[in-house]
Amino acid sequence: MITVFPYLIAQNLLELFGVDFQRIYNERGGMQREQLKVISKYKVLTGAKSNAYKTIRRLDKSKNKQSIDFAANLKNTMAGTISNEVMDSLANSKKADEIMVKWLPSSATEHRVNHALQYGKTMSIKKARKLGLGVDYGCQCGMQIISGDKHIQNELKKINRGK
Ligand SMILES: [Zn+2]
Repeated sequence: MITVFPYLIAQNLLELFGVDFQRIYNERGGMQREQLKVISKYKVLTGAKSNAYKTIRRLDKSKNKQSIDFAANLKNTMAGTISNEVMDSLANSKKADEIMVKWLPSSATEHRVNHALQYGKTMSIKKARKLGLGVDYGCQCGMQIISGDKHIQNELKKINRGK
């Protein structure tokens, strides 16, 4: 049976595509050209790119800018955006109604109470998304695919190609 952890998929994609968080911010309110080139190559990173810019703009205005870990913030923003999009593309896909999932505990050290209440429950992927699986900020929960494996695999293949 397949398991899907949207946040881990997002992190793996960013690594696979060669995004280097330490080298994104250029210290002048923008992105380093080399990383921007990497990020712009993949359609699947479009949303992550625009949210990365928003994060940079917000952090750059901060008074204690020197003490901010830009790399960590950009990683959270970009991985979170992609995790969200992975969930969207799975839950909005044509055959989403056939996809049933079992909610799996978060891989993060901290567990969210309202997510922990869902651990082990089986539901449609649409409902899991509505309840915040892979969508709520910082969520690292996963799901075991109970039905609709093939469909999930097809969608994930597309995502892995950067589309
Ligand atoms: Zn969660």
